[in-house]
Amino acid sequence: MANVTNVDTTEISGLSSTIQDYLSLIYVMERDQEPVIGSRLAELLGVTPPTVTNTLKRMTRDGLITMSKDGTHLTEAGWSAARVIMRRHMLMEWMMVKTLPWSKLHSEAHHLEHAISTMTETALMEQLGRPQTCPHGNPLPGCEAYVEKWIPLTKTSQGDAVTIRRIHELAEENAQLLSYLEAKHIIPGVQVAVAEILPFNQTITVEVEGRPVTLGNAVARFVFVETR
Ligand SMILES: [Zn+2]
Ligand SMILES: [Zn+2]
Repeated sequence: MANVTNVDTTEISGLSSTIQDYLSLIYVMERDQEPVIGSRLAELLGVTPPTVTNTLKRMTRDGLITMSKDGTHLTEAGWSAARVIMRRHMLMEWMMVKTLPWSKLHSEAHHLEHAISTMTETALMEQLGRPQTCPHGNPLPGCEAYVEKWIPLTKTSQGDAVTIRRIHELAEENAQLLSYLEAKHIIPGVQVAVAEILPFNQTITVEVEGRPVTLGNAVARFVFVETR
């Protein structure tokens, strides 16, 4: 794997936590080759579209993103800063994995990620054994290849035996959804069977430890699995 602790030495302490939150979401969209859309950011961040527009203008001025008719994109400085923020967030999640319920890791890490230093980050990376994913199965920056073979539940077929591997970052933003998935035991490492796919209903039912759990496609596309 990449020597992730030494890739970025970007100083991010000058960036407000709001800007850091924007950078992480834009990073995920860009990494997944999804267009960066203001209304989607507004929805994910729980703010109004005009607020997003103002913040994006500020980020453009500060050289973190570019906005043109080709869309909104991170600059090199934006990418570097986002990689640092993502990595620190994921390390914070691992740090609390034995302390908090799985569904609470993301929101708690979110409060702490802005405060840690490069020294702490480097030490944690070593102590945690250089993880390639966060506890939700999302790749640390530079480890994208590790998760490439996992497919969304929506791409599976009825009867498939699969192992849950990843709950996508954009689903991590939804605390209620994470609690539901945890309660139903749809978390990384759990083996499930694809029981029923109903395209007309936009649902997919998996059997988890003998119990059926039905998910809408809007959620199922964020649940990545490895076929067995
Ligand atoms: Zn997270
Ligand atoms: Zn995570």
